[in-house]
Amino acid sequence: MSTYDVAIIGSGPGGYVAAIRCAQLGMKTAIIEKYNVLGGTCLNVGCIPSKALLDSSHHYEEAIKHFEDHGIEIPGDIKVNFKKMVERKASVVEQTTKGIEFLMNKNKIDVFTGMGAFKDATHIEITEGEKKQTIEAKNTIIATGSKPATLPFIKLDKERIITSTEALSLKEIPKHLVVIGGGVIGLELGQVYSRLGAEVSVVEYMDRIIPTMDAAQSKELMKAMKKQGVKFYLSHKVSAVSKKGKEVTITATDKKDKEVTFKGDYCLVSVGRKPYTDGLKVENAGIKITERGMIDVNDHLQTNIKNIYAIGDVIRGAMLAHKASEEGTLVAEIIAGQKPHIDYNLIPGVVYTWPEVASVGKTEEQLKDANVEYKAGQFPMRALGRSRASGDIDGFVKILSDKKTDEVLGVHMVGARVADLIAEAVVAMEFRASAEDIARMSHAHPTYAEAVKEAALAATDDRALHI
Ligand code: FAD
Ligand code: NAD
Repeated sequence: MSTYDVAIIGSGPGGYVAAIRCAQLGMKTAIIEKYNVLGGTCLNVGCIPSKALLDSSHHYEEAIKHFEDHGIEIPGDIKVNFKKMVERKASVVEQTTKGIEFLMNKNKIDVFTGMGAFKDATHIEITEGEKKQTIEAKNTIIATGSKPATLPFIKLDKERIITSTEALSLKEIPKHLVVIGGGVIGLELGQVYSRLGAEVSVVEYMDRIIPTMDAAQSKELMKAMKKQGVKFYLSHKVSAVSKKGKEVTITATDKKDKEVTFKGDYCLVSVGRKPYTDGLKVENAGIKITERGMIDVNDHLQTNIKNIYAIGDVIRGAMLAHKASEEGTLVAEIIAGQKPHIDYNLIPGVVYTWPEVASVGKTEEQLKDANVEYKAGQFPMRALGRSRASGDIDGFVKILSDKKTDEVLGVHMVGARVADLIAEAVVAMEFRASAEDIARMSHAHPTYAEAVKEAALAATDDRALHI
């Protein structure tokens, strides 16, 4: 039986990064993945394929709606070859997952394909079909991720009533896609199919979309997506979903308790995700699970069993790839005797619609709830020369800073390329910058980043220059 310093169960962005860091720190490392491709949700059915389809559909939308504004005329019809678009997505995924295989080899990490299950706190049984083998691990990191959640009355048939996984590999463009849940997945994938010509209706339980982000972002994104043709039904509680032939019927009640019916050919259920521990046999190692099905961990991401840790979507906190990866690094370093730290307040959140949405730190709602006195500075993208040049004028940058000290407490953006722009805000907040620090830094002209400087000027003492 092989013995490892560390065994990692799950090869998503949590698990594979943990494995690399363990190997870098000189530990004999094994990674166990139940599928025969590495990379987990993010690389196979999450971040990467969704961004590939978002990018492809964005090009199409630009071509049919905006090329003409730039004086570009294309003779004849511009058509979508959806099969090719989906094949391209698959090839982007393949290149990316192959990259992880390369990294495992390079770092001399032993890869086991099969379902990992605890036999006890130091032994893991790996089952692939009929084949079973057991390895010994001095330490184990559980990185088994999450699966789509659903509502108790919905039967996902995975053909017409689908989750994000199926929505990333459809064989046709829906005529009418009804999306349940106006969160990140619903909006990203809703926008993909809206651009490709589907009618898209988003049915959301709360009174705003992306309800965990700053309310100004919800409003701005909804305004932009409405302009693009997506329909929104807020404060609607879905009560039934049924399928007859190719038609799906969704029944909901609005805030006046009136019944509303939606009929579509596809229904995307995107109401969140749930931690995944099926088949892991945590009980054999005595590992505690919370009422909500997450692996219970302390501040060091250690379970109640001291040589077993857990990271990523299977524990508390935001279900984000970069959060999982930071946690993978943290646990590897803790096992190696180091004292790393993660500031969860500085994990950025991004929605890759167009305009993009990005946030870090506290929202205005959170500051109000905590009775923190703050200043807000906001600058609209439309006032930038760069935005006018590209034609991407929707959005804003908003900086919230402490009223007394001017320390930046939160940065919230909507606009072109803000997914990349948010990194400036993360750096600033990591170094506990004041709004004035950002305001005094030179930002290249013309760039979208100038909106960050202008919002900082506005937050400092209401002295934005270009508005
Ligand atoms: P996962 O990536 O879920 O990996 C867990 C792995 O463990 C899986 O490969 C699974 O097969 C394996 N496994 C489970 N149980 C066992 C077992 N017993 N034995 C062996 N293997 C096992 N996040 C972002 O930050 N940015 C994005 O743009 C983004 N886009 C997304 C788009 C979609 C459509 C979806 C669904 C998610 C998206 N996410 C995004 C979220 C992101 O994918 C997750 O937060 C991330 O994958 C979590 O990483 P993880 O390592 O914890 O788990
Ligand atoms: P989410 O939590 O982002 O959104 C779920 C939405 O569904 C919420 O707006 C919620 O109010 C709504 N909802 C819940 N119950 C409902 C009901 N009964 N009827 C109508 N609406 C209802 O979840 P998601 O979009 O499924 O994404 C799952 C996870 O994947 C998220 O945690 C997210 O962080 C991650 N993800 C991240 C990215 C990214 O970083 N760009 C992209 C996709 C997914």
